[in-house]
Parts: sequence; structure tokens; C-alpha cells
Amino acid sequence: MTILPRLRLRVVSFPMWVLTAGVLLIFSISACSPKLEVYHRSQYQMGTIVDLKVAASSEKAADEAMSAGFAEIRRLEELLSVYKETSEYSKINQMAGIEPVAVSPETFELVQKGLEAGKMTDGGFNIAIGPAVMLWGVTESHHIPSQKELEQIRPLVDLSKVVVDISHRTVFLTEKGMKIDSGGNGKGFAADRVKTVLQNSGIQSGIVALAGDDKVFGKRPDGKPWRVAISHPRKKGEVLAYLELTDKAISTAGDYERFFEKDGVIYHHILDPVTLQPARECQSVTLISDEGIIADSLDTGIFVMGPEKGMALVEKLPYLGGVIVDKNGKILISSNLKDKVKLP
Ligand code: ADP
Ligand code: MG
Repeated sequence: MTILPRLRLRVVSFPMWVLTAGVLLIFSISACSPKLEVYHRSQYQMGTIVDLKVAASSEKAADEAMSAGFAEIRRLEELLSVYKETSEYSKINQMAGIEPVAVSPETFELVQKGLEAGKMTDGGFNIAIGPAVMLWGVTESHHIPSQKELEQIRPLVDLSKVVVDISHRTVFLTEKGMKIDSGGNGKGFAADRVKTVLQNSGIQSGIVALAGDDKVFGKRPDGKPWRVAISHPRKKGEVLAYLELTDKAISTAGDYERFFEKDGVIYHHILDPVTLQPARECQSVTLISDEGIIADSLDTGIFVMGPEKGMALVEKLPYLGGVIVDKNGKILISSNLKDKVKLP
């Protein structure tokens, strides 16, 4: 009998104490943690508009992080661009048939992963496509090569003639005239790197977008996932589908952004390494993966493989999701994305 009142007192006082401390704790945390806002900057880099969006506690913090992000792209361009004569990619090409070139870890990784993507896509992705890219000049000279011209360069578009040496970190193109190209996987690689730079600058959430290659990390300040749009390959400015993403890379290879038209025929920039002509089986291929380098190289390779073989590869690889628009406009969605892709 004498124990009961004491017990009751303890039962009542314990939760009151916890409640008070809890309220104080929440109050002090919310007073300390600054409000996050989304900041947005764009720059023309890597031949395209680069959009950075970050959630930060101040404009100053956002600007510092984004400046570091843009600087990282400039640094990578100096290594990887085939349009800069002094880049490591250009040096490898200049030394084709002459001698191996020692390169930075970044260049070596991009070449190695490019070769791996070539194997995975039955040669659809081919980093040795350079001579064909130059001949077509889809973004500059707009030249439709003759069959004879294509046959002349065919021996150069050969992945077995790209030799990498891991111990010396060198790349050697064994035949004069060969050219490796970073156009098919460089932007996805850069998106991965910029995301790491932003995170190292204290940013926990944002989007790195390099025209068709997006890297999304963390959540929006309101706690919701970032929303990313896939462009419609035939209706300019319209959206094909939306996706909500957290900590993912999304990359699209399409025939509608870089092309020229002659006598009513569209010639675009993704070339089939077998025919050396623009690949014709897809309008666009969008892939989602943890890494931009994977999504970017495989989307180009799968574009060449075509919708059936391409979607079979996506279904086989658990770390990939995909949305393919075939040449007739039919939309194929991988089974792991069926309930995530929202059509407008
Ligand atoms: P985007 O440049 O629009 O992001 P992609 O990632 O599909 O598009 O890359 C296309 C670029 O890749 C071309 O402009 C060219 O430089 C290069 N390329 C073209 N065909 C191939 C191919 N079969 N394999 C690898 N790279 C390619
Ligand atoms: Mg690509």
C-alpha cells in the first residue's frame, strides 16, 4: 500500500522530464541548423550548358561550392577533350602508331571504363569511333561520307587496337590515324566528379546537369526527392516522362540534339561502329545507375544495339534501369522502373 503512490509519482514524473528535455533538444537543433535554400548557376562548358543546382545554407556557401564544381569540369576538359590539342586524349591520338602515352588516373579510368562498356554492349559502344566522328562532322562539316571513305577508316575503328597498360598507366593506339573519342562517356564521368567536389565543399544535396547527363544527390530541402524530366525525342521542349530520384545518375543518348539534315534525311551523332552510319533503331535511350560513367557509356552503346537487345541488357544488369524510345516512338520501360516513371 505504501509503495503505490511513490510508483505513481515516478510513472508521471519520468515522461514529463523526457518530454521537457526532448522539446528543448528539438528547439535547440532547429535553432542551430540553418534553413536550406536551392541555388542555381549555369556555365557553358564541355560544348554544352552545365547547370548546377545545390541546397545550401547561404548564397556564399552555394557559390563557393559551385565555383569549385565548374573548376573541376574545366580541369577535366583539359585532360579529356578531343577538341583541345593539348589534352591527354589528343596526345594519345597524336601518338597513334608511334608510342604509348602515360596519362593521369582520370584519363586512364575513362579509357578503361570505355573499353569495358564496349565489351558489355557487343561493341556498340566504341571509343575508337573517332575517325568516323571526324569524317561525318555532324556538328561542323556536315559531310555524308561515301562508302569508299568509310571503308578506308574501318580498320581504325577497332577496339582490339586500343592497348592499355595498367602497371605503367599508358594508352597506346597501335595504328596511325586511330582516334579515341570521349564524347560518349565524358559528360557522365564529369557529372560523377562534380558531385564529389560539391559534397567535399559541404553540399549534401543537389543536381549536376550536363545536357542529358544528370547526377542527383540527397533530397530537396522540403525532404522530397528531386524530380528529373526525360526529354521527348520528337516533340522539342516537351517532356516524355518524369522520375523522382535520390542519389542516382541519369543519362540520355538521343538522335535529336546533334544532327544535320540533307535532302530530307536526318544524320545524327551516334554512329554504329559496324556500318559507320548513324544508328537507326532508337530515338532515345535513358539509363539510370549509381554512376554517371556507367549510365553515359551504356546509353550510347545500347542506342546502337537497338531496343530489344538493349532492354535485355538493362534487365540483366541489376544496377541499371532504362527507358528506351524505339525508332517508331514506342516506349519501353525496364521492369524496375515501371512504377517510378511518370508519364505527363
Ligand atoms: P551526348 O553527347 O548528346 O550526351 P552521347 O552520350 O550518346 O550523347 O554521345 C554521343 C557522342 O559519342 C558523339 O557525339 C560521338 O562523339 C561519340 N560517339 C558516337 N558514336 C559512338 C559509339 N558508337 N560509341 C562511342 N562513342 C560514340
Ligand atoms: Mg552516352
